Amino acid sequence: MNREYKEKLSRKIEKNYSDLEMRIMEDIVRRIKKAGKITSTADWQINRLRILGNSSEDIEKMLKETLDASYPEMFELYDQVIDWEYVRNKDIYEQINAEFIPYEENGQLQQITNALIQQTDADLQNITQSLGFYLDYGTGKPVLTPLSEVYQKYLDAACMDIVSGAFDYNSVLRRVVTQLTNSGLRQIDYASGRANRVDVAARRAVMTGITQLTGHISDMNAEKLGTDYFEIAWHAGARPTHAVWQGRVWSREQLVTVCGLGTVTGLEGVNCYHERYPFIPGISERNWSDEWLEKKNREENTPKEFRGKQYTVYEAKQKQRQMETAMRAQREKVQLLRSGGADRDVITIERAKYQGQLNEYSRFSSKMGLKEERERIYIDGLGRVAPSKRFSGRG
Ligand SMILES: [Zn+2]
Repeated sequence: MNREYKEKLSRKIEKNYSDLEMRIMEDIVRRIKKAGKITSTADWQINRLRILGNSSEDIEKMLKETLDASYPEMFELYDQVIDWEYVRNKDIYEQINAEFIPYEENGQLQQITNALIQQTDADLQNITQSLGFYLDYGTGKPVLTPLSEVYQKYLDAACMDIVSGAFDYNSVLRRVVTQLTNSGLRQIDYASGRANRVDVAARRAVMTGITQLTGHISDMNAEKLGTDYFEIAWHAGARPTHAVWQGRVWSREQLVTVCGLGTVTGLEGVNCYHERYPFIPGISERNWSDEWLEKKNREENTPKEFRGKQYTVYEAKQKQRQMETAMRAQREKVQLLRSGGADRDVITIERAKYQGQLNEYSRFSSKMGLKEERERIYIDGLGRVAPSKRFSGRG
């Protein structure tokens, strides 16, 4: 299965988690809006439980819905991998008169697949159980805060700021929305003390299993074909450490010693979607010649300039992803300010900022000769956010 197709499928699962992020942030804003209607601390004492209470039940419900929505998509992704990598390779078995065992009768492959599905399921559950935000409690240094504490401490304090009259509603709303969207919902890794954005963590959980299954099937096919060699597919903008071995043929042993198979940073490790196919020396033909690969590597490593900075193709792609993430956060910000009933001029300024980001993204992509990947920005389904009608298409 090709890389683009895999990414497209994994983006569907990613979307469930960015939707979850938005729902949680909307929920927080909704509670702040309620607090904004309260005018005295005495009233706050009476209403506090009504406004802040039930948060754990509400969160549980949102988490469960996210997981439930992800299961069918996860199964579909596994089905597709088996179809593409295994069933569609039936011909190669027939060519060498080897017996092709249908998936339904292939106990070994079923066992591997089921184990990986269980692993992915456990990873996704683990993500929903360890969520939080980076939040600033006024010290200027954001603190990684578990979701339960976000409601009990952070939200409580923000509401108190409003009802006590220490800050006006609009500035508290703006502050909270800015902090939430700057952080984004994160999976807290308690072992390392770090946190990944929840959509990134979800995609990683799913793709890890899928990549491992693809690798197992490649091994199985190679074994049947009686070869120890694999060709690794080439793709544009690969990370520098992978660019040196992609597009070439390697032995089973070299996959480990040269390409780092089995390590986190190597072939089929984290965020590596490189494909490999069985290769029979003397019979199979290479898809990418050495000359072509060298020419491509030279091209990709010749930096192009944008606003005084140099970017290789790999660096430019990284920059594109960062810009897309920033734009998604800005879109969320606009939406949350709208939900919270912020002042019109505040919303206008934020929309204009988003339009500026979009323009910069277009300029950067065209200067780098890269395709814009706006579907990565519009994954939220929030519709049009940009203010100007000058730019056709979605915004
Ligand atoms: Zn790779």
